[in-house]
Amino acid sequence: MTTTFLYKSDPVRGRQWAEVFRQHAPDIDFRIWPDIGDPLRVRFLAAWEPPADIATQFPHLEVLFSSGAGVDQFNFAALPPTLPVVRMVEPGIVRGMVEYVTHAVLSLHRDIPAYRRQQQAEQWRPLPVRPANERRIGVLGLGSLGQAVLAQLKGFGFDCAGWSRSRHAIDGVQCFAGQEELAAFLARTDILICLMPLTDATRGVLNAALFAQLPQGAALVHVGRGPQLVSDDLLAALDSGQLSEAMLDVTDPEPLPAGHALWRHPRIHITPHIASMTQPLSAAAVVIDNLRRFTAGEPMVGLVDRSRGY
Ligand code: NDP
Repeated sequence: MTTTFLYKSDPVRGRQWAEVFRQHAPDIDFRIWPDIGDPLRVRFLAAWEPPADIATQFPHLEVLFSSGAGVDQFNFAALPPTLPVVRMVEPGIVRGMVEYVTHAVLSLHRDIPAYRRQQQAEQWRPLPVRPANERRIGVLGLGSLGQAVLAQLKGFGFDCAGWSRSRHAIDGVQCFAGQEELAAFLARTDILICLMPLTDATRGVLNAALFAQLPQGAALVHVGRGPQLVSDDLLAALDSGQLSEAMLDVTDPEPLPAGHALWRHPRIHITPHIASMTQPLSAAAVVIDNLRRFTAGEPMVGLVDRSRGY
């Protein structure tokens, strides 16, 4: 019986996936939602938002792929408990995130937001330039994205550190792990970058208590997920001078509604969740490789540990 791979996400990108499948996995019947064909043949589903009744609709489903890097949009309780879930780990997402965070860090490092405000006031006032090795970068989350960002930032000579749940060892990066090392990590961080997945443990983690442990005047680059940030705490930290600037690519809710206080703060710089996006051609190639791994009984890249939520 032919195997169907069903794609339920942006249909324009889906057509690019279809072309990659046609060339490199012609034996698979690639279909774009809502053209599901025979539901009994659907063994693989790639989705941003899977259908609610996934188990009854596709009784032979074997793997659920997220079409994006995160899986926080999935309601795990509604998924069959043993269904493997795979997040998107592909070079296009990594490149986009490295570009975005590098731009944000360099911009903060070289006081570009301050110069924008000075320009608005028609002020010509050079600020002191701090060497990169005296700027301490700290990345929350040492996964595929956090590590790629640090590899790039190290090249500029920044003083780099990272924090994660489990212990990592990365050349040229001071690695901190677990709650007991969070305070030490924060105390040495001038520019904090959040690149953690949204889970019960990370919801609301960017809050007043955390900001208070950063050196006064530290800056935030938030590229994780909106609900990790307590907006009122950020506004208060900026108003008190505890934080100097915040670059937010993610907010809660998204889109950020007109009139929201985050829009109007002069030290908050918002982009509409564009730091990085799945690139259809490289994503489809990665998924085809994962299908090969799955069939061969090898571990798939990006397999989610459902007990951890990422
Ligand atoms: P990974 O799963 O590869 O890495 C996650 C990292 O976060 C790991 O190092 C993990 O620790 C750490 N972590 C998770 N939970 C905790 C915790 N409670 N305490 C401390 N550390 C924790 O994810 P990626 O690097 O691929 O992606 C990270 C996130 O970036 C995504 O989940 C998504 O939310 C966001 N993202 C945002 C995009 C945007 O456009 N703004 C685009 C793409 C992704 P450990 O290593 O110990 O497991």
